[in-house]
Amino acid sequence: MPIYEYNCKKCDHHFEVLIRKESDLPGNCPECGALKPAKAFSSFAVAEPQVKTMAHCQGCPSGTPSCASGGCPYNG
Ligand SMILES: [Zn+2]
Repeated sequence: MPIYEYNCKKCDHHFEVLIRKESDLPGNCPECGALKPAKAFSSFAVAEPQVKTMAHCQGCPSGTPSCASGGCPYNG
């Protein structure tokens, strides 16, 4: 079960999210509410093949969290 690490660009809050399903992906920072916290790469999360199940946007790097919430930054 992958645990994703995120770093908020706005308030620099670091947090981890246990991902059991796609809807667990965070759409914003739990500290300040800023949208699209940046995913901090961890070897554990990157090595987790279940990331590929997120196929909202074919043009995005796998694991882009904002795709799951419908705000794909790579697609307009
Ligand atoms: Zn924040």
